[in-house]
Amino acid sequence: MHYPEWIWHNGSIKRWAEATTHVMSHALHYGSSVFEGIRSYDTPNGPAIFRLTDHNRRLFQSAKIHEIDIPYTLDELNAACREVITRNGFSAAYLRPVAWRGLGGFGLSADTPVEAAVATWQMGAYLGDDVLEQGIDACVSSWQRFAPNTIPAGAKAGGNYLSGQLVAREARRLGFGEGIALASTGLLSEGAGENLFLVFDGALHTTPVSAALLNGLTRHSLITLARANGIEVVERDLPREYLYLCDELFMCGTAAEITPIRSVDGRQVGAGKPGPVTRQLQDLFFGLFTGTTPDPHGWLERV
Ligand code: PMP
Repeated sequence: MHYPEWIWHNGSIKRWAEATTHVMSHALHYGSSVFEGIRSYDTPNGPAIFRLTDHNRRLFQSAKIHEIDIPYTLDELNAACREVITRNGFSAAYLRPVAWRGLGGFGLSADTPVEAAVATWQMGAYLGDDVLEQGIDACVSSWQRFAPNTIPAGAKAGGNYLSGQLVAREARRLGFGEGIALASTGLLSEGAGENLFLVFDGALHTTPVSAALLNGLTRHSLITLARANGIEVVERDLPREYLYLCDELFMCGTAAEITPIRSVDGRQVGAGKPGPVTRQLQDLFFGLFTGTTPDPHGWLERV
């Protein structure tokens, strides 16, 4: 793997190899970190970071849930994100702000110093080349998401991603592109690292935040774009078998963007290729970055 040169760590820009933490850092043992995934895009007006402030706000929300006191402000983290893009000479890239309990105590409730970093790297389509065009084959995982009042699904915390790894690794091992998890209720939740949308009769249906999912910003962006363009959106509990019965199905997330799903558990979804509503949303979403979709909410934040 080729690593970029510069990274932001604890308030300053460092060389990648110098951005280290101690092996006895709390987070390494107990999963006590919170993080974000953000993309910058190369737009006609120069590089822009998509919903930078909203992502970093969610970082602080995740930290609040877990009582992780990040010793930087929102503005400082926004600036750090811009700085790593500029310093590495990137335009289209993925950004990873992360904050974690560091070295300073070994007990579960230890109040250790909190460290923070922002990394960036160049990333293409998360689930593989061509997937945005062709779609992926997905499966429902044998692993469920966490039950309510166990691990908060609404925090984007490091420990949560043990669940995501079980779901994603099982799917890959079985030869699928991605895994979809059910909530502890047995109803649909989300993908290993993506939210889900199903299309029925031209309307978008997506699972609600009560279904143990991360309240994705791509999900929110698509709901907003769909409604602004006259597409009905329904947030509702959905049983597993609706994955097989819908007309179209796709996953969305910062990394996965809008990835169509052409089959689930070996059953073809709709026509087995990206359908018209999926295509329309892809056009609207990617149009934000090429300039064909207006940006009335100021989602594109200039580097
Ligand atoms: N669910 C999970 C579990 C995720 O990790 C992600 C990626 N952050 C998403 C959903 C999508 O969230 P977003 O659109 O904000 O990237």
